[in-house]
Amino acid sequence: MNSRSRNRLSKLIFSLILVAIIALSCTPTTAPPESSIKITYKATPASTPQTQIIPSQTTPSSPALVTPPLAKIPTTPSPSQVTTPPAPPPAETTPPLPQVTVTQSNEIEAKVTRIIDGDTIEVEINGKSYKVRYIGIDTPETNKPLGQEATNKNYELVSSKIVKLVKDTSDTDDFGRLLRYVYIGDLFINAELVRLGYAVVKTYPPDIKYEALFLSLQSEAKTGQRGIWARKYVGSKSSDKYHIPSCTWAKKINPENEVWFNSATDAKLNGYSPCGVCKPPASD
Ligand SMILES: [Zn+2]
Repeated sequence: MNSRSRNRLSKLIFSLILVAIIALSCTPTTAPPESSIKITYKATPASTPQTQIIPSQTTPSSPALVTPPLAKIPTTPSPSQVTTPPAPPPAETTPPLPQVTVTQSNEIEAKVTRIIDGDTIEVEINGKSYKVRYIGIDTPETNKPLGQEATNKNYELVSSKIVKLVKDTSDTDDFGRLLRYVYIGDLFINAELVRLGYAVVKTYPPDIKYEALFLSLQSEAKTGQRGIWARKYVGSKSSDKYHIPSCTWAKKINPENEVWFNSATDAKLNGYSPCGVCKPPASD
């Protein structure tokens, strides 16, 4: 091989190497931009999930246009999405509120709307009507002796007032009435009705928190002969007649033999009949 052909060969090899170098250097430089564009294009819609609706409109256009719509998307859909979700929760939480507060809270204020009898009232709580049965006490039925008086006393105490209702253990009785201690300020209505002799103590476990207080007030009412415990008519153990206490025959009865009745019905139930002299009522 002469020097000329050697020179040609070396030139050819050099050019081949040069081509190879160019080819090698060009392939990586062209490929990455394409892939990097694809990555950024795919990455941007993926990173913002809220923008799924709008990218579909911009997908046909060049990747460069993806950026401007992205800025608009978070502002437009988010306010509409923010306003919609909070709206249903308040609408759902508002209706159950009255029931929740009544059953879960131990203490609640209520407006008395009706007096049913001596130990039952109707109240309004958050626009809803409830029947409330006083805990631990029992007043005579309205058609029984002192029943009307007990109702009247209850009316006098709580009618149209704002009362505080306090739960013991049970929420309601078998009739669905709320079982509650009733207060007006510091006045404990359940206790007051017992103290005045308009109610007798009647506790049902587990609602017995104030049983001792009620029993103590009941003995006080008995001693004071108040209401139910008032001694209205008197008879003798050795007779079957009952008298008005001012009757001359009543005054002749030995105190040891005295039998007292709080109503004519009570006397009759014990086998006594009205005295023909003082003529007490035959029934109440
Ligand atoms: Zn008499």
